[in-house]
Amino acid sequence: MHVLVMNSGSSSIKYELFDMDHATTLASGLVERIGEERGRARHHLGDDEVTEDEPIPDHDDGFRRVVAALDRAGLGEELGAIGHRVVHGGERFAEPTVLDDDAVEGIRAQIPLAPLHNPANVTGIEVARKLRPDLPQVAVFDTAFHRTMPPHAHRYAVPVEWYERHGVRRYGFHGTSHAFVAKQAAHHLGRPLEEVDLITLHLGNGASATAIAAGRSVDTSMGLSPLEGLVMGTRSGDLDPAVVFHVQREAGLEPAEVERMLNKQSGLKGLCGDNDLREIEHRAEAGDADAILALATYTHRVRKYVGAYLAALGGADALVFTAGVGENSPEVRERVLSGLEPLGISIDAERNAVRAPEGVVAIHDQHSTLSVLVVPTDEEREIAEQTVAAVTEQPSTG
Ligand code: AMP
Repeated sequence: MHVLVMNSGSSSIKYELFDMDHATTLASGLVERIGEERGRARHHLGDDEVTEDEPIPDHDDGFRRVVAALDRAGLGEELGAIGHRVVHGGERFAEPTVLDDDAVEGIRAQIPLAPLHNPANVTGIEVARKLRPDLPQVAVFDTAFHRTMPPHAHRYAVPVEWYERHGVRRYGFHGTSHAFVAKQAAHHLGRPLEEVDLITLHLGNGASATAIAAGRSVDTSMGLSPLEGLVMGTRSGDLDPAVVFHVQREAGLEPAEVERMLNKQSGLKGLCGDNDLREIEHRAEAGDADAILALATYTHRVRKYVGAYLAALGGADALVFTAGVGENSPEVRERVLSGLEPLGISIDAERNAVRAPEGVVAIHDQHSTLSVLVVPTDEEREIAEQTVAAVTEQPSTG
């Protein structure tokens, strides 16, 4: 079966076409600057690369370009299903869900919980269902993997009505990535997923840590929204909530402006002006004080979560680094884990030099009681696999 995975943002559609029978990628691409003056669609079709520099007025036009590119390459016909990445599934969606009208309404109902992400996901779903009503379509939720968190991990200590009436609780995100690397790690350890305890660190532009007990998420650092937890490229991560009221009073900022600044102007960018970790590493090497502080703050936060989750789990079999920073920065991994020998963690400097590995690489040394693994993530592949599982279990479409 061929499965098209779509990740629709407010002005972009990222896609990848998988041949699930041969575990290969047949095509991928990015339609971007939708609705702007100058749009761009880039398609990788086998060895061919096609770029269209033209205005792309809306997602409808964007998706038509994807379908047309796949058809031109003779790849459209065998398409068996479309899998959509959806950021927030709220309390309703704990599993990948075959889309019918009711499910789409259910996703729309989660918009108040994810006003920055779910609207674009819904738009992508609507366009794809309109243009390919013949295909089963599946929503795969970033939150779903974390639905196994127990109440003491997912509830906030706030008035109960906030939870009951407004859905205020921890949901967690990056679920497809944490789920994918957990499976890979278990496979590498030669043990069933249901038997391993892991701490997975997804360190990309967005970043989150997850505590996994017996293969299931039991705590994670992102919360009601992707703003909580680790220091990220442009998001603050953990913060005293009083900071919000303080800057509203003292700096005269409106709530929406504070929200925007915590999402877009904070994190590494807030600390040093850059959100690209490569650039920050270069600046820090050259002695730039802001970059040195940003790097130290970033790695200190990850380290605290490693300690917290080791305690929450009562020990773990492995620690997993993944995503742009986790897979590519020996320096970050070293700073996060140095001096943790008393906790059973020690890494080998030579093995830790790995960047952009093709598969799982172990970087711990012989003294380490935990395995430390670098695992390339592949959220699109995980979405494709979950899509196949959902349509095979429940072959009806809406
Ligand atoms: P992602 O969101 O997973 O694509 O990760 C993006 C982040 O990974 C950015 O902050 C990049 O700077 C970082 N990254 C990518 N390659 C490297 C590298 N070779 N060294 C350090 N950071 C990197």
